[in-house]
Amino acid sequence: MRLEQYIEEEVKALPEEQWSEIECPYCGENFEIGLDPSSEFQSFVNDCEICCKPIQVDAEWEDGELTVGTSRI
Ligand SMILES: [Zn+2]
Repeated sequence: MRLEQYIEEEVKALPEEQWSEIECPYCGENFEIGLDPSSEFQSFVNDCEICCKPIQVDAEWEDGELTVGTSRI
């Protein structure tokens, strides 16, 4: 008789990337950007997918809630 071991695979709940929809402050169109959920505060420049102008993006995680602010440079 043989004992079999079952190894439970841990499923990671945290995604590698969090997608958030932002509104372009130039053309007003919405598009999605990828954010890193491991970093509490992120500030970076992302070109608009529609009009290609540079958008200042400020993303902040607070108690699991994501707040994304956009502004013109
Ligand atoms: Zn735009």
